[in-house]
Amino acid sequence: MNTRTLTEPQRQTPVWGEYEVVVLGGGPAGMAAAVAAARAGRKTLLIERYGFLGGMGTAAGVTNFCGLHANVHGDIRQVVHGVADDLLQRIARLGGLNEPHGLFGKTVAQAYDTAAYKIAADDLLLSSGVEVLFHALAAGVVMDDARRVQALLVETKSGRFAVVGRTFIDASGDGDLAAWAGAPYALGDGAGNMLYPSTMFRLNGINPERAGKAWEVIPRLMLQAEAEGRYRFPRKTPIVRPQKSGIEWRVNLTQLANAQGNAMNGTDARELSEAEILGRRQIAEVAGFLREVPGFESAYIVDIAPQVGIRETRRVRGLYELSEADVLECASFDDTIGVNGWPLELHLKGDVEFRWPRIPESRGFNHLPYRMILPEGLDNVWVAGRCASMSHEAQSAARVTGACFVMGEAAGLAASLALKGASTAAAVDVVALQAGLEDNGAYLGRTW
Ligand SMILES: Cc1cc2nc3c(=O)[nH]c(=O)nc-3n(C[C@H](O)[C@H](O)[C@H](O)COP(=O)(O)OP(=O)(O)OC[C@H]3O[C@@H](n4cnc5c(N)ncnc54)[C@H](O)[C@@H]3O)c2cc1C
Repeated sequence: MNTRTLTEPQRQTPVWGEYEVVVLGGGPAGMAAAVAAARAGRKTLLIERYGFLGGMGTAAGVTNFCGLHANVHGDIRQVVHGVADDLLQRIARLGGLNEPHGLFGKTVAQAYDTAAYKIAADDLLLSSGVEVLFHALAAGVVMDDARRVQALLVETKSGRFAVVGRTFIDASGDGDLAAWAGAPYALGDGAGNMLYPSTMFRLNGINPERAGKAWEVIPRLMLQAEAEGRYRFPRKTPIVRPQKSGIEWRVNLTQLANAQGNAMNGTDARELSEAEILGRRQIAEVAGFLREVPGFESAYIVDIAPQVGIRETRRVRGLYELSEADVLECASFDDTIGVNGWPLELHLKGDVEFRWPRIPESRGFNHLPYRMILPEGLDNVWVAGRCASMSHEAQSAARVTGACFVMGEAAGLAASLALKGASTAAAVDVVALQAGLEDNGAYLGRTW
């Protein structure tokens, strides 16, 4: 990047509004946070750069909920409830939710249609009393002092505004707000590598009868095509699965590396641009191969996700960092706010590696402690979702949607409690928070 700088003229920034809770980001964490805060009676604004909600779940075409369920001593159970249930019911009413499908004989995931998700999410937020500001890109913060954020600066088509808040929830996925406010964070595994991004796409025109359980044969066909020298795939371990209508399948098979072979960095503007182009180039290649699979002969690319799928960028350091051992050993915490039942899913160079808790001997999930959503050094900010405080390995598990709903809902309710009297996020009465979450139907993992 060019090192030259310019001095911008000083400006008076108009105030968009003043809120009790300001949520940055409309992904699963941000939606759950905003709904929880608004339902607790707080004047809540959610800011989102796109014109729809869902985060990576819609913008990156994920189309599949992981982490809603866990393998509890051999029984597969839904372990994330609360706001998540309200969203699932709305998507189901629109006909956009699949029955859960099995994975590796160990757990299940649940696919959905992005169009139904977007409609359901609008309805969920508005009916809960959240004000939503779409097409607003957050670009900076104004601080009260070193520990408290006063306002979030947003760029919109109507100009630049300051959104003044008493509390802020960073659900940007990238820790944007927390990083601007000075919170410490880490990127990747310490050796410069984040989980590799992928661009998702969907194929239509598939013959469901002929395709059958094509996901079981595709890995072998890929090996064969590579051995014959006809294709070189960006990664192994393909995810090619049907949507609700069996003529449409989602494909998760790209992997986006920069010129050095490292994961494209989702906080680097230039690499993001390169990733978008590389993702579409890989899709053209992969789709060509998939047309060789029985049942896929007439398949065509019906949709490429609006943006490259980013799995990991900044992980903001909090008062507790969730670890790999916490996930694999199904850790318990006194300050549990809910659970993660997804294994480690490491998108490494050229492949995906899963690491599981002991199944069926263990209860199959770990608690998520309240402290992991409290950024170091900030008093009126919570960080929820894939940018919360986790090691690189633990993030590969608790970044999935189920855990993001959990963290978001807890952050929204905690902000509401903080406004009642506690002076800081860390001073919130955790017992009251847990009671409030359970009253709202959340599962905190205190049974089994
Ligand atoms: C390719 C891929 C496949 C995946 N597969 C699955 C899967 O099968 N199942 C599963 O459960 N999970 C999957 N995941 C993970 C999961 O989708 C995400 O980790 C999850 O969506 C994270 O939720 P979040 O709310 O923390 O952040 P995000 O979903 O990233 O949402 C953040 C939101 O904030 C907005 N935002 C960010 N910065 C700004 C800003 N400065 N101003 C305004 N708005 C901003 C974004 O537009 C976005 O809407 C996958 C992820 C990827 C990338």
